[in-house]
Amino acid sequence: MKLTILGSSSATPYLDRHPSSQVLNVNDQLYLIDCGEGTLFRLNNFRIKKNKIKAIFISHLHGDHYYGLMGLLTTMSMHEKSDELIIVSPPRLKDIIDLQCEISKTVIRFPIRYIETSMEYSEVYKDSNITVHTVPLCHKIDTCGFIFDKNFPTKRILKEKIEELKLSPHEVSQIISQGFSVKDGQNVTIECISEDNVTKKTYAYLTDTRVDDSYQIYIQNLDLLYHESTFLHADIKRAEETKHSTAKEAAEVAKAVAPKKLLIGHFSARYIDLMPLLHEAQNIFPNTELAIEGLTFEF
Ligand SMILES: [Zn+2]
Repeated sequence: MKLTILGSSSATPYLDRHPSSQVLNVNDQLYLIDCGEGTLFRLNNFRIKKNKIKAIFISHLHGDHYYGLMGLLTTMSMHEKSDELIIVSPPRLKDIIDLQCEISKTVIRFPIRYIETSMEYSEVYKDSNITVHTVPLCHKIDTCGFIFDKNFPTKRILKEKIEELKLSPHEVSQIISQGFSVKDGQNVTIECISEDNVTKKTYAYLTDTRVDDSYQIYIQNLDLLYHESTFLHADIKRAEETKHSTAKEAAEVAKAVAPKKLLIGHFSARYIDLMPLLHEAQNIFPNTELAIEGLTFEF
């Protein structure tokens, strides 16, 4: 899985920081997560093929998370997208898009299927690549985070089979690297010493939200966690008023649920320098990075 950050800013953009959007690449299929104003330009800047987007996930209907959608959809249509696009969002986004199309007499020439989220933990999307669950968050309007799971088949090596067949470490590594080894004139294959297993990679995208305990049970065993960090903890009052989180709080969530890595983003335009936010989070959860425009994280 490969995650590229298209926007790192909260409601007010600042210079080269833009409203929320990310693109997740799984087996060369693209999934767009939020679509703040100007997402189309960021996709162009980073040479990401917009017509490869299979589904779009919108966390909530504050403008900085979906104002880029209309422009993106009409451009996809002009670029002759023909296959179905799925849009997962809170209710009424379809009404907003349909009204704009009706008034501007715009025809989107590819099918769109809308899937509505609700304020509960549930599976909202599944294809051959990924399964996506919603996580209800704590914001000013109904808002869901998303958990993206990719399952892929692997083999689990069985220690007892290795002992039974009296295989040396060299023979085992040969079997793993080339699929078989010859032992006493017999072929020993990977199937002889392993069983089928499923490995999971998991990414959680959580924005916008106050930190509370309610969603932590859903975000255990993550490979990557994105948690909004709109404010420094010195501005906690503003975070409480606007139902956002501080960098310290995001890191405390990470410390509690122990993902392999934490990304922080959705930064307020009041901070010109983002390093204090990074340091505040790293003091609590060292493996934290800023999720800023153009960075790609593979996991
Ligand atoms: Zn919001």
